[in-house]
Amino acid sequence: MRACRVCRDAPVGKPLPHEPRPIFVVSAEAKILIASQAPGIRAHLSGVPFQDPSGVRLRQWLGVDEAAFYDPGNFAILPMGFCFPGHDAQKGDLPPRRECAPIWREPALASMPQVELILVIGIYAHQYHLGRGASMTDTVRDWRAILHASERPRVLPLPHPSWRNSGWLKKNPWFEIELLPELRAQVRTLIGT
Ligand code: SF4
Repeated sequence: MRACRVCRDAPVGKPLPHEPRPIFVVSAEAKILIASQAPGIRAHLSGVPFQDPSGVRLRQWLGVDEAAFYDPGNFAILPMGFCFPGHDAQKGDLPPRRECAPIWREPALASMPQVELILVIGIYAHQYHLGRGASMTDTVRDWRAILHASERPRVLPLPHPSWRNSGWLKKNPWFEIELLPELRAQVRTLIGT
């Protein structure tokens, strides 16, 4: 996976506009998997996922500090596209590369049978892991049913912690009041804090 060059050498459509730099954390110990979207430019440059304002917000949602978050004994991180996909004309991030999940997701997930909880972040991960994603709000609002219906590993849908979703968070206060306490309780149980 680290050596993959598919989006550069055999892309579907336009090639990746830079050299591939797959960013993920695969772990034989982590009980929690963060199924996220795609690295941003900061992660692409540093090689470290979620070391940006989205990461700050995600750690606050989880109730963990950086040391706990970056401990592969606690969290694995598997974006839907492992490489930064580049920017669109409005300087937003492009969607995750569509080549990535069909090639790598199943073997990567199969290599972590110990995972007990998958945090499914954003619409692309909702589509892959839950088969739904037309409405991010409807999917996240249904979190109790999704969490309790899933067998091991259990699945909990979340919005992306990007600043772009700050308006969504204001419009949906139930997320912080109802979902986040359950998320933190699950995290505390699984990583032992
Ligand atoms: S995004 Fe995925 S498939 Fe594309 S080059 Fe990176 S690792 Fe390979």
